Amino acid sequence: MTLEPVIGLEIHVQLKTKSKMFCGCDNRAEDAPPNTAVCPVCMGHPGTLPVANRQAVEFGVLASLALGCRITKESKFDRKNYFYPDLPKGYQISQFDKPVGVEGKMTLENPLAKEGERKVFTIGITRLHLEEDAAKLQHSADGKSSLVDFNRAGTPLAEIVTEPDFASPAEAKVFLHELRLIMRTLGVSDADMEKGHLRCDANISLREVIDDPAVERETVLRFNPKTEVKNLNSFKSVERALEYEIVRQTALWNAGTPPTQTTTRGWDDDKQITVLQRVKEGMADYRYFPDPDLPPLELASIEMAVRPKMPELPEAKRARFREEYAFTAADAKQIVDNPYLADFTEKTMSELHEWLSTSGEKEPWEAQKAKFAKLVSGWLLSKLLGMLGEIGSDVRIMKVTPENFAEFVAMVHQGKINSTAAQEVLRTMLEAGQDPSQIVAEKGLEQVSDVGDLELACDNAILANPKVVEDYKAGTKNAIMFLVGQVMKSTRGKAKPDLVREILEAKLGNI
Ligand code: ADP
Ligand code: ZN
Ligand code: MG
Repeated sequence: MTLEPVIGLEIHVQLKTKSKMFCGCDNRAEDAPPNTAVCPVCMGHPGTLPVANRQAVEFGVLASLALGCRITKESKFDRKNYFYPDLPKGYQISQFDKPVGVEGKMTLENPLAKEGERKVFTIGITRLHLEEDAAKLQHSADGKSSLVDFNRAGTPLAEIVTEPDFASPAEAKVFLHELRLIMRTLGVSDADMEKGHLRCDANISLREVIDDPAVERETVLRFNPKTEVKNLNSFKSVERALEYEIVRQTALWNAGTPPTQTTTRGWDDDKQITVLQRVKEGMADYRYFPDPDLPPLELASIEMAVRPKMPELPEAKRARFREEYAFTAADAKQIVDNPYLADFTEKTMSELHEWLSTSGEKEPWEAQKAKFAKLVSGWLLSKLLGMLGEIGSDVRIMKVTPENFAEFVAMVHQGKINSTAAQEVLRTMLEAGQDPSQIVAEKGLEQVSDVGDLELACDNAILANPKVVEDYKAGTKNAIMFLVGQVMKSTRGKAKPDLVREILEAKLGNI
C-alpha cells in the first residue's frame, strides 16, 4: 500500500494597522503593559458599536489580490458565537459566506524536491477573510487562575485558508516562507511567526495511491478524516509536526486502523510530538449570522483604490533581477528574500549603471551587466553579509551605502584594488562608514600598475634569486611564481599579479 499526504493550511496574519479592527485603540501596543490599549468596544461592553477600520479592509483586499483571489463585491461581517473568557462579547466578528477574497492560487518552486516530488507546485487559496483577534490568556503555574490581557482583543487578522493541495511538509514550508515575504512586501504585516503575527494551523491526512495507471487518479482519490495540528510557532515546527504526523498516521494505516474521525492535536515543541487535544464530533455550531451593527462592505471601490498601490511581488522581482540585471536564479532568490537587501542591490546596480556611462569604458552596460551582477553578488552575498553576520549587524542598519558600495565594486572591476586589499577596504567601510576611495588613499592600498615601479621591483627579485632564475631557464616554468610572490611582497601586495608575471616573463626571456 502506498500512502500520500494531503495537507491544507489555515493561517492567521496580524495586520499592522494603526488602530484596531473595530475601534480606535492603538494596534501597536504589543509591548505595552496589560490592558492599557483597550476601550469599551474591544472590551465588549454592552451598547457599544463597532466601526470597520478602512485600513484593515484595504490591507485585506491588497493581500487577497496578491494571492490571486477574486474580490467579493458585497462582502460582510458575521458573528461567530462561542463562549470563552478571551472573547468578551461572547462572539467574534468574523466573515462566514462572503469573505473579502476567494479562489486564489499561488505557484511556487520547491528547490529541495526529491526524485518523484514536484519541483513546481500550485496551491489553491480557498479564501481570505477579516476578523478580530481574541484577548490573550495567561494561565498561572498552578493552573488555578488565569489572567486576561485585552490589548490584543480586536486586533485585525486576515485568515487565509488553502485548499488541501500540499503534497509534503517541505511544500508547506516553502509556501509559508513566500506568504511571509508577500505580507512584508505589501507592508500589511510583520508576519513574524515567533511573535505570533503569523499563526498557522496545519491539517493533514493520508490517502491511498492507486498504482494502476489504467485507473484515473482523480476518480478514485478521496479525502480521509484529517488531523488539525495547532500550536506551531515556527516554520521548522510546522515542517516537523507534519513529518511527525505522516509517521504516526502511516503506522495507523499499516495497522489497519486509519483515523476515522477528525481530530485536533497540539504540537509539543520540547518533546517534538503531537498530542491529542480533542475529537471533533460533527460540525461545531457557531450560529453564524450577519452582524447587524456593521454595514456590508462595498469592496469594488476599495479594490479600485488599492490596485494602484500593489507593489512588485517577490516572484516578479526575482524574475526581473534575473532578466534586468542577469543575476543567477539562486542569487536572485537570496536577494529578494530580504526586501532591504533587494532594495540595496537595486540601488547599487543603478549606481553602477550610471557610473559605467561616465567611466569612459567602451563596452556598454548591456554587455557588462552580467559581470557586474557577479561582482555584486560575490562581494555582497558572501563577503559583506558574512562580515555583517560576524558583527551581529544587518543590511538595514549598516553604514555602507549603495553609493559607496557601487564605488567599491567599480574599483574592484577596474582593478584599482586587488582582492586582498578589497577585503580590507570593505571591512573599513563597514566599520567607519567612509567611502572606498578615501580608505584606499589613506591606507595606500591602490594597486601598483605603474610599469616603471614594477620593473624595478622585478629586476630586484631576479637579481636576488639567481637559483630560481636558473630553474626557470632550465624548464621549470612554475619557478616564476616564486618571483611573482617576491614582487608582491616587496610591493606589500599592491601589485597586479598578472602584470608582474608578464613583466617577469619578458625580462627572463631576454636574459
Ligand atoms: P473544517 O470544516 O474543519 O473547517 P475545512 O474543509 O474548512 O475544514 O478545511 C480546513 C482546512 O483543512 C483547509 O486548509 C483544508 O485545505 C484542509 N483540509 C480539508 N480536508 C482535508 C483533508 N482530508 N486532509 C487534509 N487537509 C484537509
Ligand atoms: Zn478598543
Ligand atoms: Mg472551515
